Amino acid sequence: MIVVKFGGTSLASAEAIRHAVNIVKNNPERRFMVVSAPGKRFKEDTKVTDLLYQVHRALREGGDYRLPLQEVKDHFSQIIEELNVSFDLDKEIDIIEKEMVQYETADYLASRGEYLNARIIARYLDWPFVDAGLLIRFRNHRLDEEVTYPLAGKVLKDMERAVIPGFYGKDEDGKITVFSRGGSDVSGAVIARSVKASLYENWTDVSGIMSADPRIVDNPRKVDWISYRELREMSYMGASVLHEEAVFPIRAAGIPIEIRNTMDPSAAGTRIVPVLPKEARAHTITGIAGKKGLSDLFIEKAMMNAEVGFGARVMNIIARNGVPYEHTPTSIDSMSVIVETAALEHCRNQIISEIDRELNPDRIIIEDGIALIAVVGEGLWQNVGFASRMFAILAEEGIHVRMIDAGFSEMNVIIGISAPQYEKAFRALYDGLQDLM
Ligand code: ASP
Repeated sequence: MIVVKFGGTSLASAEAIRHAVNIVKNNPERRFMVVSAPGKRFKEDTKVTDLLYQVHRALREGGDYRLPLQEVKDHFSQIIEELNVSFDLDKEIDIIEKEMVQYETADYLASRGEYLNARIIARYLDWPFVDAGLLIRFRNHRLDEEVTYPLAGKVLKDMERAVIPGFYGKDEDGKITVFSRGGSDVSGAVIARSVKASLYENWTDVSGIMSADPRIVDNPRKVDWISYRELREMSYMGASVLHEEAVFPIRAAGIPIEIRNTMDPSAAGTRIVPVLPKEARAHTITGIAGKKGLSDLFIEKAMMNAEVGFGARVMNIIARNGVPYEHTPTSIDSMSVIVETAALEHCRNQIISEIDRELNPDRIIIEDGIALIAVVGEGLWQNVGFASRMFAILAEEGIHVRMIDAGFSEMNVIIGISAPQYEKAFRALYDGLQDLM
């Protein structure tokens, strides 16, 4: 049994919906369809979810919410007309206008795009609609896994097929709550886990996960297979095809995800699996990813290695200031903590003075403009000589490697370089390591 999820671009217009529905009908195993709100129909169009957030803002600030709400209505009414389904949109919009005043939350309004789209598509497909509020539970704004999986499993157990809106559920008080943006991916994963699907197909507007950032490398190769662990590394470093949290519900259950392109349905996509199959293990490198906008908090103190708890106290200060850290390469008498520059915005001086006061280092500086590049692949560490090749490529390009982070996860090597060299280093590695990809 397959759970399918379609993103907003794949459901933006009647034509797109017809196409998506054909894909669903093409395989009788596709039994549960999770849908996003309609996305952009053309470049200057506004996504329905964005319009709904505008409605909420206007409502809160006493502005005129009618204009964005009318746009939402127009978008759906065009879909309904062109699909030729009977659906009382006026009545639904009236309900939303009443409830949005009553509930007054951004989450409620934001959820209505998925809600309406799912109802309309269910009508068109002639499948039952099941409200996500009956299936997905939140507690303290986080998915309540303990309650959700059995609950959704029970509701859907005897259902042959259903269309389910993505993005939202209800909290412990029955209030509608949404995931973060792009969260229909998570809904799809949650449903797949709950019904014990054998596959979660995520239909989107790209052909899968790319082995490198297409903004930097021309036409990077598509990844055919990627393990959950590798995906996590790639998406942490900015390869964002799937919502970050979508992996967790199904990872534990070992359900594979397939990223497919709605515009090219016969093409194989990317398979995200718990364990790479043999054919995929032939590749040493699965992909290269990276990110800019990082800072290096560098602390030096003689005999640091002998001072018990030094690192713990540094990390404590950073944590106290609400800054998550990314990496901590260390040396005998120095340590670096790599953090996002944006996270330091309000506490840069505070952190320096607290470390100065509490740890009395010889030197402490924060250096901005750091970029990281990760070469990712489960096969990396079996490849003798890989590191020497990687660093030779960088040396040849005159790229100064500032940090190296590679270790027992055995599936990536991360280097820190200065941001202006980022694109150059990225391309050089991608080109130079082709034969291993
Ligand atoms: N419609 C929501 C958003 O735009 C959720 C989703 O599409 O996944 O973020």
